Amino acid sequence: MNETLQNWLGDQISSLIEQNLYKPIVVLDTPSGARITVNGKSDVINLSSNNYLGLANHPALKQAAIEAVERWGAGAGAVRPIVGTMRIHAELEERLAAFKHVDATLVFQSGFTANAGVIPTITDGDDAIITDELNHASIIDGVRLSKAARKIYKHNDMASLEQALKETAGAKKRLIITDGVFSMDGDVAPLPAIVELAERYDAATMVDDAHGSGVLGGGRGTAYHFGVHDKIDVQLGTLSKAVGVMGGYIAGSSALIDWLKQRARPFLFSTAHTPATAAATIAAIELMDTDPTFTERLWENARYWKAGLQNLGFDTGISETPITPVMVGDEGSALQLQKALFEEGVLALAIVFPTVARGKARIRTMPSAMHSKSDLDDALAAFERAGKRLGLI
Ligand SMILES: *Cc1c(COP(=O)(O)O)cnc(C)c1O
Repeated sequence: MNETLQNWLGDQISSLIEQNLYKPIVVLDTPSGARITVNGKSDVINLSSNNYLGLANHPALKQAAIEAVERWGAGAGAVRPIVGTMRIHAELEERLAAFKHVDATLVFQSGFTANAGVIPTITDGDDAIITDELNHASIIDGVRLSKAARKIYKHNDMASLEQALKETAGAKKRLIITDGVFSMDGDVAPLPAIVELAERYDAATMVDDAHGSGVLGGGRGTAYHFGVHDKIDVQLGTLSKAVGVMGGYIAGSSALIDWLKQRARPFLFSTAHTPATAAATIAAIELMDTDPTFTERLWENARYWKAGLQNLGFDTGISETPITPVMVGDEGSALQLQKALFEEGVLALAIVFPTVARGKARIRTMPSAMHSKSDLDDALAAFERAGKRLGLI
């Protein structure tokens, strides 16, 4: 092994530990549920998963996956455009398009690869990408893969967006990109205002709705919630969070999907989902489409949880969705709170730099449809004890 590289790796890790930025991986010994066994500790209340609707361990999804393994096998055997597209992959895309009320969809291996797939494929060197400063890392990486010029606007600030549109007037095409729901603060992009500016300045729009999928608009996402789904050029959704399985997709016009099938690199050069993944996802969409109680329970729990934290004196920031940050500030205190909560039987992870800015560390909590009132009450009691112990409330 190369000593220069190995020494460099050791130095990097030591530096992270010194700055309280080193995060060990937690290991589950149970499915993703309201209460889990994690790092050997049982009956821990889980407030950190993106399994908003409890679908990840739902019997209907598991059954669909099992049947798909029996019928189609364990793997797809090829990339989608060679011979990796099975009937079940095509069926998933048709179901998704109907669910989202769009012309067509294309499924990628993950939301991350969907961003890497779509952004460089629909923009060229003479275009400009206009992107919110708090957009997700996978959007940032997708933008890096594009030859287009880039302009960052202030978070959810329409004056700043308009300024960016004026400054990029020379570009051939322009693409505005925003998260639908911002994953670290839980606030929502003002899509109607963004669409209006886009129309006025002749720009295209893209919404990454990873945290809106399955959560807002009865599960159909942020654009549907605002009634602008036929005005957004590119909607990205994830199948890995509320939908409970794995994958990402692009929803939009037939021309967009046709072009991506010819040119999007993760679609062309990385193998198709397992049949079980596609089948479980179809089962999840079926449930979301026919049973509104999943999203209703999620929102009821989210309101209860947020009010409970606020009553205890915690600052939950600007969240408008189930994502509920507990703002702490410095990285060390956030990690201490995470540790104290775990001792109290609650898993709620600290989010620190580089995921959020330095000095904006927080504990991010995600109540879900799986939690009972007593799960949430127990977790609130744990937050109260830990918060008092650390002098945060
Ligand atoms: C989680 C997330 C992704 C990535 O989705 P995966 O399916 O987990 O790869 C993309 N964009 C945003 C905004 C996200 O929060």
